[in-house]
Amino acid sequence: MGLYKHILLAVDLTEESDQLISKVHQLAENTQADLSVIHVLEPLGFRYAGEVPMDYSAIQKQFDEHAQSKLSKYSQSLNYPVKKSQIVFGHIEHEVRRIAEEDNCDLIVVGCHGRHGVALLLGGSTASGVLHGAKTDVLAMHVHKIDNQDG
Ligand code: AMP
Repeated sequence: MGLYKHILLAVDLTEESDQLISKVHQLAENTQADLSVIHVLEPLGFRYAGEVPMDYSAIQKQFDEHAQSKLSKYSQSLNYPVKKSQIVFGHIEHEVRRIAEEDNCDLIVVGCHGRHGVALLLGGSTASGVLHGAKTDVLAMHVHKIDNQDG
């Protein structure tokens, strides 16, 4: 048995997530661990609550379907048996930690840009958010910023 038994990979499904594929594949293979993948959808109402009064449910549904299909393609690209590939709703950091606990994962893998200083203060980072309060090891894998997308 390797060091880790169940790895949870958190992906934002942007092109940046593709940078994690090869390393996560090797990590899982080397540890012979189970591998699960999670993507968190923040309900649109969360983000725009109160700003624009409208019914988001139709747009939300399209987002969900789009994310489902992207996640299953992503999971296939890992070229490793994926135990559980799931989309959950809520706050990213909280949901990643919650699912890690619920599914008995002993390592969470997230991407990290290595932002620092003011950029980090202003933008925050999902990696540090996941780390704070996590009950398992968290591995932050460096990803390069891809400029033509926001975030
Ligand atoms: P960020 O700091 O928000 O650019 O995100 C860095 C990393 O956090 C990504 O590479 C993912 O590992 C994780 N992450 C960001 N957004 C999500 C999301 N919606 N669902 C799951 N993981 C995410």
